[in-house]
Amino acid sequence: MFIDLRSDTVTFPSQQMREAMCKAEVGDDVFMDDPTVKVLESKAADITGKEAALYVVSGTMGNIAALLSHDIHGFGVMAGRESHIVNYEGGGVSILAGAFCQQINDESGLPLVSDMELTFKADDNVHLASTKLLCLENTHNRRGGMASTVSEMKVCTDWARNKKMFVHLDGARIFNASIACGERVSDYCALVDSVQICLSKGLGAPIGSLICGTRDFIEKARFWRKRIGGGLRQVGIIAAAGIYALDNNIDRIAEDHANAAMVKKMLDDAGIKTLDVARPTNMVYIKIKDASKTNDIISACEEKGVKFTSTAPATYRLVFHLNVCRSEALKAANIIIEEVERIDA
Ligand SMILES: *Cc1c(COP(=O)(O)O)cnc(C)c1O
Repeated sequence: MFIDLRSDTVTFPSQQMREAMCKAEVGDDVFMDDPTVKVLESKAADITGKEAALYVVSGTMGNIAALLSHDIHGFGVMAGRESHIVNYEGGGVSILAGAFCQQINDESGLPLVSDMELTFKADDNVHLASTKLLCLENTHNRRGGMASTVSEMKVCTDWARNKKMFVHLDGARIFNASIACGERVSDYCALVDSVQICLSKGLGAPIGSLICGTRDFIEKARFWRKRIGGGLRQVGIIAAAGIYALDNNIDRIAEDHANAAMVKKMLDDAGIKTLDVARPTNMVYIKIKDASKTNDIISACEEKGVKFTSTAPATYRLVFHLNVCRSEALKAANIIIEEVERIDA
């Protein structure tokens, strides 16, 4: 068995989670007949403090169905240059939703008001695709898994409200943000019109995300989900894993944060460069000196039983999750230190 630090998506469903799936009552969810999906959606609505929620198969589908439901075709969408929506969703904002993506600096996780002012396009000028929607990401994956607080997010959302824009939150890891900052998920979500949360990241379910928002918004998203092929039938069988995850796997995310912090400290003490972020969560980013050695270190560590990926030349991302216990985190750190010291001398 590898110690797999490639992502928090590599987790396996536990025996108890599988048992919950086995026992799930099901029905045809396109006919809205699946009782297990209804339970999951109402739990997600409660946790996020929204009127309603919609189960979708992935975070990418959740983000695009939400964006489509904001009627952005022909408008501008402001999203961070380093965001998941911009980098890892196949350009869906433009290709599928027909919006012009106005990318903005998000070096500190959230965009700065001064940058948003510069990027914003008004609707009073024939030259401009006016900006209709702001997308935020918390925690921010490509910014080291950085968590932002509710008050930091409010600065952005207040600005957007003032411009009469809608706000979507890519909350794939909002539970990590909530735990790292000691904030309630619902307090983050109260600031935004729509949010996408992932069950298959830190929460350890095999599949699934939810879009949460007003009842009207969720009915629109239900239409878009069907149109893009995401209407599912007896899907309670996997929704049951999501219910199990929400009931059992939120608080334990703190262990992943503790493991990440321990490994970062070990690397720092060994003189290996890691990315410092203001409010770290379950990720550690490493920088080596010699970019030409990027793949050599990955292969050497894999031979010793530790897997991780590079996100750029000379840059690695380690992600901690429920299938990496403290002693495995410790073991992985020692192997990485040994190989980086040997190869990146
Ligand atoms: C993983 C992730 C998504 C997309 O989720 P998938 O289920 O992989 O499609 C969206 N946003 C962020 C920040 C993510 O980390």
